[in-house]
Amino acid sequence: MTTRRQFIMGTGAALTALGTGKMSFSQEPKKKPLVISTWRHGLASNERAWDILKQKGRAIDAVEAGVQVAEGDPKVSSVGYGGWPDREGHVTLDSCIMDEKGNAGSVAFLQNFKHPIAVARKVMDDTPHVMLVGEGARRFALAKGFKEEDLLTKEARAEWENWLKHQEYVPWAPTTNPTHDTISMLALDQAGDISGSCTTSGLAFKMHGRVGDSPIIGAALFVDNEVGAACATGVGEEVMKTVGSFLIVELMRQGMSPTEACREGVRRIIRKNPNWQDLQVGYLAMDRQGRVGAFAILPDFQYAVHDGKSNQLIDVESYSG
Ligand code: ASP
Repeated sequence: MTTRRQFIMGTGAALTALGTGKMSFSQEPKKKPLVISTWRHGLASNERAWDILKQKGRAIDAVEAGVQVAEGDPKVSSVGYGGWPDREGHVTLDSCIMDEKGNAGSVAFLQNFKHPIAVARKVMDDTPHVMLVGEGARRFALAKGFKEEDLLTKEARAEWENWLKHQEYVPWAPTTNPTHDTISMLALDQAGDISGSCTTSGLAFKMHGRVGDSPIIGAALFVDNEVGAACATGVGEEVMKTVGSFLIVELMRQGMSPTEACREGVRRIIRKNPNWQDLQVGYLAMDRQGRVGAFAILPDFQYAVHDGKSNQLIDVESYSG
């Protein structure tokens, strides 16, 4: 009898299609435009992106505007304003953005700016660089007219003060602990162009100065308009070590479906981590045809997809079943 694990490790598209029904969505080619994003807070962010896409706007503008909804929502404890701080009580933000021409912008370890994605976009559009960090990123943001504000909410401060009592650092405790949940977003516009964005406050109670995968082009986000795009959420160290999103786009280039490519991205992490049960990483991808796929290590990963007819949350198949 085929075990659940063997089933999941099978690589054929046919096996995938025979799954629990969770995968059937990803097998259908979708019409453009289309926007997808990670986790439940992707639903509201997709709506904002859709407003742009439905008016024949560019994917790059949609993904920049879309994730700002999560960045500005104090109830989202893993992104922007209201994000849980590092172990010294600082909310430090990582973001990146990439367009259909392969242009990219990124900021890391940015503090006191509510919309790091907008700063990343300015890095892309207005500088000869890809990435600005720390104090240099701060000065650049101020010069571009962004305003500094305190992003540590009362609720986030209370969580941090509570954490200080035990100071146990668990980078990932799935389903029981909302210390994660980066928003990554991919959009395909009416013109057939793909762009992506990613923004986060990173792992809660991380070391001061820690930067994860979210601002790293190729790790948490990669777009190649000839093929498709991929993005990530979860323990950023594992995503960085396997250059996950770049890997997934390259696997799609070689003919894998988005789901197969995401599954292989997860498998690379599993192979190097005997303790994979303690890690969550979720990948989300789309190809040029607007086919969508996802795969995660653990079962709690969801993504939101808006195709104009509906904006719905999809449960993602996982390695652990
Ligand atoms: N990938 C993010 C990081 O490592 C965290 C997350 O997605 O929840 O900073």
